[in-house]
Amino acid sequence: MELGVDKHDHVQNLSAKRLIGKVAVITGGARGIGAAAAKLFAENGAYVVIADILDELGAMLAESIGARYIHCDVAKEDDVESAIQLALTWKGQLDILFSNAGIGGPAGSITSIDMEQVKHLISINLLGNVHGIKHAARAMLKHRTKGSIICTSSSAGVMGGLASHIYSLSKAAIIGLMRTAACELGVHGIRVNCISPHAVPSDLLVSAYRIFLGNETRPEQVSKLVGETGSLLRGRAATVEDVAQAALFLASEDAGFITAHNLVLDGGFTSSCNTLS
Ligand code: NAD
Repeated sequence: MELGVDKHDHVQNLSAKRLIGKVAVITGGARGIGAAAAKLFAENGAYVVIADILDELGAMLAESIGARYIHCDVAKEDDVESAIQLALTWKGQLDILFSNAGIGGPAGSITSIDMEQVKHLISINLLGNVHGIKHAARAMLKHRTKGSIICTSSSAGVMGGLASHIYSLSKAAIIGLMRTAACELGVHGIRVNCISPHAVPSDLLVSAYRIFLGNETRPEQVSKLVGETGSLLRGRAATVEDVAQAALFLASEDAGFITAHNLVLDGGFTSSCNTLS
């Protein structure tokens, strides 16, 4: 009897790991949402390549979870190609790209928008995804892998007035890029989706809030404020782990019939006009 129970538990544990043997590249995986995803993917049995520009953090995290780290500025196509290549030389395949690296945008009026800042942000937030999808799709097509590509957009990509003009521009464009890539790649069994989180108290968001609330602003304050004003689930802001769970779902076979989808992870915020009341 006891033996039966143990065996059952064992089977359940195995099936609970949703990415066994899968090979994933995560851009922006050194901290924040990407780091949470790297940990969760590894816990779920994936071989993870962390691609970032924060070398020390990225390498430390990689070592702690049995992943690999590579310096990769997503604005540079060659860097992204090298990150995908590392997955291929390491494990001979690429199953998942979580194209997540991104930066916040400058606040300010459209009338004073700085074109150099536009180019810089677009080169990371948008072209980084073009580079990622291009090289991940090449690898998946070459190896006939029915892979999953997930890009990180934002609530700022689906509604106005939330963030800087350039940031919104980049995030909205990612959704269009994702849908068009999904249309082309679906016939090969490659799924392409987006996650659009809203207001996750990561370094990126805390830095953005410091512009308005002052340099002393702490993550807990941002979390509290966002929970009160940026979610229908009162008092509850999204966490990096919430977003990582959504990425895990889209990466896994549990989402095997989901493609060209933008999964808005916002506690209902973008569907309501009541959230700020
Ligand atoms: P974060 O700043 O904690 O993490 C971003 C990661 O991307 C960092 O590790 C950073 O080093 C890396 N990165 C930045 N520029 C890079 C480059 N040129 N090449 C490679 N890596 C680079 O922020 P986060 O909140 O975890 O952001 C992750 C993604 O989620 C971003 O695309 C962001 O726009 C998006 N997002 C965040 C929120 C939020 O509220 N935090 C909401 C919606 C969308």
